[in-house]
Amino acid sequence: MTGFVPLHVYLRRQLAGGQVSHAYIFSGTGGEAQAEAFAAALLCLHPDADGTACGSCAACRNLLAGSHADCRWFDPVNHLHRAEGMRELVAAAALSPIVGSRKIFLLREAERITEDGANTLLKLLEEPPPDMVLILLSDQPDALLPTILSRCQLFLFGSGQSEPALPEEILQAAEELLRSLPQLPVYQVLLRARAFEKDREQQKQFFFALFTCLHQAIRGELKLPMQADELMRSANMMESALEMLSANVNAKLLADVVYLRLWQNSSH
Ligand SMILES: [Zn+2]
Repeated sequence: MTGFVPLHVYLRRQLAGGQVSHAYIFSGTGGEAQAEAFAAALLCLHPDADGTACGSCAACRNLLAGSHADCRWFDPVNHLHRAEGMRELVAAAALSPIVGSRKIFLLREAERITEDGANTLLKLLEEPPPDMVLILLSDQPDALLPTILSRCQLFLFGSGQSEPALPEEILQAAEELLRSLPQLPVYQVLLRARAFEKDREQQKQFFFALFTCLHQAIRGELKLPMQADELMRSANMMESALEMLSANVNAKLLADVVYLRLWQNSSH
């Protein structure tokens, strides 16, 4: 038991590949736990081979106690992140790390940033210090300024509840379906998708595969026939659909609505 949730596979890959970015937006129910685990993985003195924090070194213990000198959380003050607080963040970001090799700043409810606050933060994002990692937590990333959005890597996290393992052929089928959306009439989309709706578990797996492809496309790792805003809308919709599928909704009806929306969201 490390005290931290298992780090998402994409974040582990970034750590392993030395491709940690300066700025992230973590969105979705599991976002805050992932932010903690990521901060821990970056600051841990004895991380595991796969980059996961050990949970027991001095750095991990300080993080769990909320007292690590190189990791600071910023909460909205009277419901807002004003310029004053953001100037404090920028000033702290300019200093060297105190105990580790990186300094980490985490902003809860980042959508509550004021325009002045956002402009202050933007200057930092334009010239980030090499040892800084900034993580904005927000369930409404589309409410952030486009200039901030474009400088951050967006991660959408699900609720973390039993994410199904994804066989490669399912992932490929999901990718093919998403690619073919603009060429197919909507009834053909529904027909094709039906092959993956034999039972609730299979459907959940296919929905998760669609979500994964959209997520990859948002991060520019996959090309899909959707604009950035359409990708974001579709990924958010898939996330809610996965949650609904875990509740007891009519799975068939939900699937029809999901594919209709995906079809509408694709660029015709
Ligand atoms: Zn540790």
